[in-house]
Amino acid sequence: MNLALFGPPGSGKGTQANFLVQHFGIPQVSTGDLFRAEIKAQTDVGRKAQTYMDRGDLVPDSITLQLVRRRLDAPDTERGVLFDGFPRTVAQATELDKMLQVMGRRMDRVIFVQVPTDVLVDRLAGRLTCPKCGRTYHPKLAPPQLDTVCDHDGTALIMREDDRPETARKRISVYLEQTLPVLAHYRQQHVVSDIAGTGSIEEVRERILRAIGVPSAAPAGMSTGGPAAGVRLAGEGPGGGIPPSEQGGASDTETPGQRRPPGIRPSDHGRSQGAGHRRRVRGR
Ligand code: AMP
Repeated sequence: MNLALFGPPGSGKGTQANFLVQHFGIPQVSTGDLFRAEIKAQTDVGRKAQTYMDRGDLVPDSITLQLVRRRLDAPDTERGVLFDGFPRTVAQATELDKMLQVMGRRMDRVIFVQVPTDVLVDRLAGRLTCPKCGRTYHPKLAPPQLDTVCDHDGTALIMREDDRPETARKRISVYLEQTLPVLAHYRQQHVVSDIAGTGSIEEVRERILRAIGVPSAAPAGMSTGGPAAGVRLAGEGPGGGIPPSEQGGASDTETPGQRRPPGIRPSDHGRSQGAGHRRRVRGR
């Protein structure tokens, strides 16, 4: 099964990806992680990629596709993969289609995790990362127990260059301009499921499992998200505050429970968001 988690930076894709790879027993192919590994190994590709990443720009397609092609050659990808942060341009999506076709495969489902832009900036800007284990923290939303060190291994936390507030804003605008059109590409293939990325990590996870067709594992009484909650922020449209241009069109695989991302009451938002973030998550 080939899946892609699609959504803006800060939508929590990386966190959900960690769960899904374990659940489905397929490897995660995160181009961001592939680039960071190249940077760590001080390769030419890493050096080139870093200049783009530090500015919040996309790494050129040729470099990105080269890494993905190499990764898909590895035998562990035979049963499928979970793409995270890829494809990010229409050209990448078109090339990926070709690569999969040659392997006799196709993209089975693209999960679009929608989060309103103002929430994204809050989540991204100022995020702290443990350089050793990759866990992420946030001074407001998910603070470490001790101010500046990782709860897990005591390493001093750093702010990734691309999590600085200006760069975070740039990444979001790059996403809106260059990456959102990828959705239309997959909508033509009728493989997109729209998921609300607001609420707790568990709520988002349940929505994703439902979209993939896995029965909900939520304990009785737990909201699995979706508009069943039926509540919206005052004055919002049906997109949970996300302008139609950011929603990338209508879902191809709507079920009554996921037709639109739910709005949630501000009080719910604060609570569930905090609870979700407070569960420590591995970095991307
Ligand atoms: P991520 O960890 O997915 O947020 O990616 C971090 C950075 O790596 C992005 O801001 C881009 O600069 C670069 N990057 C990751 N994936 C891609 C991709 N598919 N295409 C181009 N650049 C990418």
